[in-house]
Amino acid sequence: MGTVIIGGGIIGLSTAYYLSLSRPATDDAPIHIIDSSPMLLASASGYAGGFLASDWFSPAVSSLGALSFRLHRELAEKHNGSRKWGYAGSHVYSLSVDEYGVSEKAKSGRRGDWLLDGTSRAGLVEGRSDHKNSMVNQDGSPAVFTPQVGGTLNTIADPEECAQIEPKELCEFLCEESKSRGVHIHLSTTATSVLTNSDGVLTRLRLESSGGDGGNEKREIECDKIVFTAGAWTPRVFKTLFPQSHTRIPISPLAGYSLTVKSPRYTHPFLDVEKRNIGGGEDNWLCYAIYCAPGRHWSYSPEAYARLARGGQTEVWVGGVNDSSLSLPELATDVKKSMNPKSFESLRATTVQLTGLAREGDDLNQDDLETVREGLCFRPVSTSGTPIIGQVPEKDLGGVCMGDGGVWIASGHGPWGISLSLGSGLVVSEMLQGKKPSADIRALGLH
Ligand SMILES: Cc1cc2nc3c(=O)[nH]c(=O)nc-3n(C[C@H](O)[C@H](O)[C@H](O)COP(=O)(O)OP(=O)(O)OC[C@H]3O[C@@H](n4cnc5c(N)ncnc54)[C@H](O)[C@@H]3O)c2cc1C
Repeated sequence: MGTVIIGGGIIGLSTAYYLSLSRPATDDAPIHIIDSSPMLLASASGYAGGFLASDWFSPAVSSLGALSFRLHRELAEKHNGSRKWGYAGSHVYSLSVDEYGVSEKAKSGRRGDWLLDGTSRAGLVEGRSDHKNSMVNQDGSPAVFTPQVGGTLNTIADPEECAQIEPKELCEFLCEESKSRGVHIHLSTTATSVLTNSDGVLTRLRLESSGGDGGNEKREIECDKIVFTAGAWTPRVFKTLFPQSHTRIPISPLAGYSLTVKSPRYTHPFLDVEKRNIGGGEDNWLCYAIYCAPGRHWSYSPEAYARLARGGQTEVWVGGVNDSSLSLPELATDVKKSMNPKSFESLRATTVQLTGLAREGDDLNQDDLETVREGLCFRPVSTSGTPIIGQVPEKDLGGVCMGDGGVWIASGHGPWGISLSLGSGLVVSEMLQGKKPSADIRALGLH
């Protein structure tokens, strides 16, 4: 009997990847991913920042967080992830800019407190020798982030504890690997109902696919296992398939804007001169992340990632402008219609201030950045603040029986779905095969 994974974001793809790694899909036991969009990764998994942490999680998530961080590193080491999806260890700073923009030190002639205790880290990193001068500020901080007048930068984590990836590229890798092991991917497809045998046991799903010509094709596929990984759409899809169930999936959408740019001050990967084995390959590449407090230049808390993409390409991702009033569109690809130009203007102004060209005698930077991508997508946020991962009890399926199969949910990862993706995929694949999960996820079930 088959397994159907509903939703092809990073959680669905990770699940398919580990399930097919453990037992390749066959005609007798096929693995399907169905996704309602005409293309994958128009969702949060394609536009996220790609920041990974080993232990920034609440106790309920800590075991999964540690497992996932280890899996990210192992996968990158095994498959040259630094080159294929920009995996690299990351320095992490916090930045606050004082209210008046001019600190006491700046007033006395120095240009702010840009890199206070970060100087200890600066000795561990350099630009490529031929680009060294343009890659690093005078004080050793990365030139990709413009020194802020009145700014204080503190180190909060180092590349052993945190890393970055280009999440869309990791998803593409997971997708290709899964397909090569027989996983079927059905785009523009939704599951419209579950079908049961005479004993009321799930045996098939009814699917509807929209063709390019506007016509709809209806068909059925055999399955006894369903995994809901539809991100912010999970409650909607669950309700469609189990309309008699009184169970409410406590996940809601939170829209977030992002902007990815190229900077003339970040043209080559940073190198770890200590050559620690943290780059996920032979390259010893490093990234930088900055978390900013609200201040004079922005009223929210922007986050900026100087990260890598395929082949060592350099780019800066900036986010932090959210909009809780935007409602979830029918399809992930419909999101463009909801984009608010004012939100992008605000994010661009922040991006320029954080990473644009500093002008002598002017506190405001010049925009010399090239746009790579503008994004708007929806985080799946759970009421508890932790992901929901586990099997849905049969009693909560509104009368549908499961026989030897079952229904699982892996969603609600909020701001941490990229970091927790591989661990989530592995533990769900283990549960689907009746194995003990590799992480303690007992606190993450549907309560
Ligand atoms: C601005 C921003 C920055 C972020 N940065 C980070 C970060 O740095 N680090 C981190 O760890 N996390 C980050 N996140 C969070 C992370 O992106 C999400 O938690 C994660 O991508 C969720 O993945 P998912 O697979 O659950 O959902 P999604 O990526 O939303 O995928 C859901 C899929 O379900 C499909 N779908 C929808 N309806 C149906 C249906 N009816 N039938 C079938 N399929 C359907 C959609 O088309 C989509 O492909 C960020 C999120 C945002 C918004």
